[in-house]
Parts: sequence; C-alpha cells; structure tokens
Amino acid sequence: MKKISYVIVLLLAAVCLFSQCKQERKEQRAKYVFYFIADGMGINQMNGAEVFLAEKNGKIGVEQLNFSKFPVASFATTYSKYNSVTCSAAAGTALATGSKTKNGIVGMDSLAKNPLYSVAVKAKRANKKVGIITSVSIDHATPASFYAHQKSRGMLYEIATDLPKTGFDLYGGAGFLQENHKKDSSCANIYDILKDSGYVVLRGLAEFEAKLGKANKAVLMQESNENPQSLSYAIDRDPSDLSLAQLTREAIDFLNADNTEGFFLMVEGGKIDWAAHDNDAATTFHEVIDMAEAIQQAIDFYKEYPDETLIIVTADHETGGMALGVGTYSLNFKALQHQKVSLGQLTEKIKQLRKDQKNKVSWEDIQALLAVNMGFWDSVKLTKEQEAKLKIVYTESFQGKDVTLEKRLYSSSEPLARESIEIMNRIASVSWASGGHSASLVPVFAIGVGAELFQGRMDNTDIPKKIAKTANY
Ligand SMILES: [Zn+2]
Repeated sequence: MKKISYVIVLLLAAVCLFSQCKQERKEQRAKYVFYFIADGMGINQMNGAEVFLAEKNGKIGVEQLNFSKFPVASFATTYSKYNSVTCSAAAGTALATGSKTKNGIVGMDSLAKNPLYSVAVKAKRANKKVGIITSVSIDHATPASFYAHQKSRGMLYEIATDLPKTGFDLYGGAGFLQENHKKDSSCANIYDILKDSGYVVLRGLAEFEAKLGKANKAVLMQESNENPQSLSYAIDRDPSDLSLAQLTREAIDFLNADNTEGFFLMVEGGKIDWAAHDNDAATTFHEVIDMAEAIQQAIDFYKEYPDETLIIVTADHETGGMALGVGTYSLNFKALQHQKVSLGQLTEKIKQLRKDQKNKVSWEDIQALLAVNMGFWDSVKLTKEQEAKLKIVYTESFQGKDVTLEKRLYSSSEPLARESIEIMNRIASVSWASGGHSASLVPVFAIGVGAELFQGRMDNTDIPKKIAKTANY
C-alpha cells in the first residue's frame, strides 16, 4: 500500500513538473514578432522628437513616445564589415541576417558570393506568416535585406524579382522603382511576375479593405503610382495619402486572419533618414512621431496577446550627425511647430510660384509664402541678419532664368527653401554634422516575450539572432 502511494505521489509530481515546463516553454515563445526599423533614427532624432512634443506644449523636458516607455531600452553599434559608418544596405543586412557585409550589398556576404538568409526567412520556414512593409519603395535597401540577395542595392529590378522567389505572405510600401529590366527588354515586367507568382497587387486603403481579406499573398502600395519612391512625409500628408500606420494595421489584420501559427512583421520608417539627409529637423521629428503611430498598432496588438508577442524597435544607423543645442544652453523647439511643410514641399511651392508668375516673383510674394509655410515674420521672428541672408538668396535665385537646385541624396532643393530650413534649424538650436550617415549608436527598445534578451549594449547583428532565439525559429 505504502509503495503504491509513493508511486502516485511521484507521478503527480512528474505531471506537475511537466505541465510547468510546458507552461514556461509556451510563455517564452514569441508567436507574434514585430520588428520596427526606424531608418536614420539615432538617439537624438528620437529624443529631439520627445523634446519637440514637450516644448510645443510649453514644457521643458520630454514627452515620451510610446516605444521609449518599453521596459527594455538599450543601444547597438552599427559599423559594417569594412566601414565605421554603415549604409542602409549593410545595416539592413546586419539587422535582417545577423551578419556584417560590405556597404552597398543586400542580403549577401561581403564577397557578394553567398546569400545570407534573414530572420524573416527563418520565420517563414518555422511556418509563420511573414510581412515586410516600409514607407519607401519596396525594393529599397532595408526591406530588400529581408528578402533579396543582390551584390548592389542599386540593382532594383533584380531585387524586385527576388521578392516572389522568397515568397513572403505580404509586402507593402510606396511602389517599385524599376518595373522593367534596364537593358534586357525580354525580361518580364515586375507586375506580371508578381501576378504569375500568385500575388495580388492592391493600391490604396479602399482596395486593401475590399480585397485584402480574400487574398492569399499580396503586395500593398499607395493608390497613385506617381511617386513610387515613398509615401508622403507625415508633415506634408493629405488625409487621402496612405500612412505607415495604416499599412501596419492592414498588415496585422492580414497576417493574423485564420492563423494559429503566428507571424513576423518588419516595418520600416524609411523617411526619418531622408529628412535627416536633408538636415530638416521639423520634418525629421514629425517622421519619428509618425513611426510611433505605426508602433502603436503593434502595441494595441500586444495588449491583446501580451504573453505571446515581442516588439523590437531599433534603427539601422544615425543620419546627419544631429545635435540638439548650439552652445546656448537653451532650445527653441516650439518654433518648429510653425514649419508646415518639408524642404521638398517648400521647394515645390516656390517652383509653383515661379511657374505661375513666369519667374517674376516679388520679395513680398516670397515673404507671404514663408509666413504661411514656415511662420516667418509672423509666429517666428527673424533677426536682421537672417532676413538679409534670405533676401540675398532670393535675389540670386530669381535674377536669372534658371536656378541651380541643391542636390542631396533624396532631394533637389530651391536655394531659398534650403536657406529657410537652415534658418529654422538655427532658431530651434539644432545643428547637423553632415548630409550623410554617422557612426553614432542607435537605440534598441523591447517589450513582450523575450524582451529581457535585449538588455545591455549589443551589436546590430545580435538583434536578429535574439529574435530567432526567443521566437524559436
Ligand atoms: Zn540614408
């Protein structure tokens, strides 16, 4: 009798232990993974956005963005295989695959010989649904690093043709930059290839809502194909323009529908980088705040599935060497709220004025335009020197028939628009080291299952490895 009791007790203990283990295993598995990459968002782009929100409301300090409240906050190094300062292709490859490569290469080793497979590919192999979305073109370096293997980020057609080969469930972004092969006309158009591979291409929110639910695999794009480069900047956005938050919402609904296995979703905020390349502080901060809107979609999902969801927010590199302060121990970020358009949009408005008035634009017209779009002379006071500088640039750029636009990586600007943005930066006390990337550390935030793995300083290559570990890919 005594022996039987012992056996029963032992059996019960074993069952308890087993179920506890099972419970723990279940809790540690990130069934739903969100991987947000804020392109170009260094610590200062993020902190600056928080200061901007505070100063707009008349406070000194910060108003925290949703992701900066995550329980785990750390930082990562970003250097690439041969360069201290990375480009988005090498950084995207590091964040996607866990391996460093040469600047310019997408999803391949530094000799461009062997493909490197991303954490998203591992997720797919583990039977997860996978989505890759961005606010820039779908063939751009960061999203491409998750699905493509090409020796150069500039091989846009080849990158696009890798997309159906990798075969994720959902891709989304502004569009494709190269629908056809540049030289070989016998190569099929990318939309035909997508169709033949079973992808439904949907344009605009109304079409997503009508047709995405019935699609098996889909590519989401903005309604108009006029600007396949990117979605509008948040600061310039019309209500009818597609936003990154809307794309994220659609992606979550699609990936989670009739799915018991879980999903992996990468979301890139691609234009923080663009605005920072332009040294346009207000536009940069609006992009960071807009990224937080997209992240909010994941946070809402996390609240529903807190024991099975992991959200990571990081950046591929810092852009511009942005500094908050110019030595005066004060900032004036509240002035930035009066900037209503990006550098690019301000250029368009000046160009339009030129066109409408056949290049005979008066100084008063320019003053009126800058008052409306930058708050100058109105809510934002200019010094005599600043006004004189603007007037010189006005005189120079409107005296001849042609104006020389100032070119940067993602923009061509009217000199007067460029000068206005620079004056706004100085008024706000923001300065920039360059129009390129820097080697600054980038932030890493985590919440949810396995978030504790992201504590402590890390390298960008550690991040996908940690994701794969906690998601059990
Ligand atoms: Zn960049």
